[in-house]
Amino acid sequence: MKRFWEKVNITGLYSCWEWQACTNKGGYGVFQIAGKPLSAHRVAYVLTYGRIPYLFHIHHKCHNILCMNPLHLKAISSSDHNTEHKKRDVCLNGHQRTPDNVYSDRGCKQCMKQRHIERKRKTAFEDRV
Ligand SMILES: [Zn+2]
Ligand SMILES: [Zn+2]
Ligand SMILES: [Zn+2]
Repeated sequence: MKRFWEKVNITGLYSCWEWQACTNKGGYGVFQIAGKPLSAHRVAYVLTYGRIPYLFHIHHKCHNILCMNPLHLKAISSSDHNTEHKKRDVCLNGHQRTPDNVYSDRGCKQCMKQRHIERKRKTAFEDRV
């Protein structure tokens, strides 16, 4: 799995190691194994700790979703994950939950905008083909 760490900008033991290769719509790093796209931070976790408990999420303690430093990654259940993000006041994609970035239902405006742009881009592409 040397190929994996070659795509990571390893700067120092305690700093964020940013993913240098492709990312998905949500801004997460993507690593292909046998043609299958996998979340890069999950691969980093498995390579370091062996496995991820069933249905667990990998949380970025540093809130930098491109970070691959195993010291910054933590396996938690999805409900714990939500609590964690509410506590820190950031959404699952790391956007700050400032009063002008959240809807009344606590939804993230930035995520919503991003999803909207993606959808538009996709339709524009489909129009061409
Ligand atoms: Zn980090
Ligand atoms: Zn998280
Ligand atoms: Zn967001």
